[in-house]
Amino acid sequence: MPGIYFLDVTNRDGVQTARLGLSKLEKTMLNRYLNRMGVFQSEFGFPTTKHESLYLQANLELQEMDKMRPIRLAGWLRATVEDVHTAFSMVPKLKHLNLSISTSQQMIQGKWGGRVTEDDVIASMTKALDAAKEHGAESVGINAEDASRTSLDFLIKFSRAAKEHGADRVRYCDTLGYDNPFTIYDAVKTLAETIELPLEVHCHGDLGMAVANSLAGAKGALDGGQDVYINTTVNGIGERAGNADLVATILAVTKSRDFAGKYELGKPITLTRAWKTAQFASYAFGVPIPINQTGVGANAFAHASGIHADGVLKDPENYELYSFSELGRGEPELVETGREICSGEYGGVSGFRHLMGRMAVTFDDADDAREKLELVRYANVLAQKPLTTDELKFICKYPGIARKLLTMVPPE
Ligand SMILES: [Zn+2]
Repeated sequence: MPGIYFLDVTNRDGVQTARLGLSKLEKTMLNRYLNRMGVFQSEFGFPTTKHESLYLQANLELQEMDKMRPIRLAGWLRATVEDVHTAFSMVPKLKHLNLSISTSQQMIQGKWGGRVTEDDVIASMTKALDAAKEHGAESVGINAEDASRTSLDFLIKFSRAAKEHGADRVRYCDTLGYDNPFTIYDAVKTLAETIELPLEVHCHGDLGMAVANSLAGAKGALDGGQDVYINTTVNGIGERAGNADLVATILAVTKSRDFAGKYELGKPITLTRAWKTAQFASYAFGVPIPINQTGVGANAFAHASGIHADGVLKDPENYELYSFSELGRGEPELVETGREICSGEYGGVSGFRHLMGRMAVTFDDADDAREKLELVRYANVLAQKPLTTDELKFICKYPGIARKLLTMVPPE
């Protein structure tokens, strides 16, 4: 039976969002949270972008140390041979990729002024795919950007070529959030049945349907006999109106009527990690979680009306589809509270040792503490807010990795 997998793109689509971004340490922490949640793949960044290089390498190194497994870390790049060569020269240990190219006439005409034909699009994609395989890529997903505004005939031709050249999946991108659950179901099911290749669905919220479309697209792939990889972002943060929210999509797949029980997860999800992951992303992006956010909003389990409060006290199932404890709500604060001795870029070693002592982190000697404090100061310069306890512990545990994440030297 085909299964459902989650492929999170916060570290790619999320950080492309206007006005928002993450430091390399924050991106790394997010990969770790996603790994603990059971997310299959994190699209962890841009291997052709110079300032990402050390971060991408450091995260792959963590995996080599067996410290962040089994999540797959995949780089995103344009589907051109040049970009593939650049990616492997900058991040030689890259194993997983998604190669992206526009497939719609709108983009072919509007972006490339008609200088490129549909055949050129396929040729660029297949050559890039061949190059990725030659470089030793273990898995390659092919992204059809603007798939929802692409003729189905061309999408089939494009996907067939991808399969013939060894693609592992094709990503159906509803780049503009143009689909609705009915149209995406039909399109993805047809692709699944015709191409017989696992599919990804990538949905945006421009019409308020990112989660619904993801669910319907997933159903199309599964009914067509193929595994599906649902693209999500934490708290739905992504370009414009955002992407399908990770937690809401997991809940939709596992709790909604006629979906739960009928369709299966290909890889188990540890939902109890949801709360912490959402809280961290909110803190790192500096974007509060809306009060009515599915599952993790402040009001998601609040009952004020007399009838509802009475009903939920008698039996929570009267007014709740799932319990707050399933989501891991109520975990301790991300940043130490109480008397505040904050980590800061101008902090001293005494305050630092006190702060870390409360987290049961010890140091070999004064030099060891000073060395790690220096890394914490640099991390603070980048974050411009107190580091979370997990970030502080991470820096103390993996100082060599942290050093790489904090190093950024612009090319001459
Ligand atoms: Zn997107």
